Amino acid sequence: MADECIFCKIVRKEMPSQPIYEDHDLVAFPDIRPVAPVHVLIVPKEHMVNLNDVGKNDAGLLGKMLRLSAKIANDKGIAESGYRIVINNGDDGGQIVPHLHLHLIGGKALDPKMG
Ligand code: 5GP
Ligand code: ZN
Repeated sequence: MADECIFCKIVRKEMPSQPIYEDHDLVAFPDIRPVAPVHVLIVPKEHMVNLNDVGKNDAGLLGKMLRLSAKIANDKGIAESGYRIVINNGDDGGQIVPHLHLHLIGGKALDPKMG
C-alpha cells in the first residue's frame, strides 16, 4: 500500500469516486477525464505499480480484471459495438498514475492507430 497513491486513496475511500463495481479484489470507477462516452478504470485494491510488479500469483487477478471489463462493457451496452482495453505501463507507455489499472474505453469509434 502506498500512502500517497491516488488510487489507494480511492480504494480506502479517502478520495471520492463513483464506484460502479467493487469486490474483495477490484474496484471500477469512471475516469475523471474521459476520452470517450464510456471510460472506466478497473483497479486492483492491492497496490502494485504496473505489470512489472505482477507475479505468478497475480494471474487470476489479471484475468478477473479482463472479465470485469467485459461485464461492464456489456452492462454499458457497448459489448457488440466494441471497445478498447488499455494498460499504460511505465513512462514510455504513458502511465501517469503509478498503481496498476486497466482502461475500458468505448461508446464511439476509436482511432485504429495506436502509438
Ligand atoms: P494512466 O496512468 O494510465 O495514464 O491514466 C491514469 C488515468 O487516471 C487518467 O486517464 C486520469 O484521467 C485518471 N485519473 C487521475 N486521477 C484520477 C482521480 O482522482 N479520479 C479518477 N476517477 N480518475 C483519475
Ligand atoms: Zn496504490
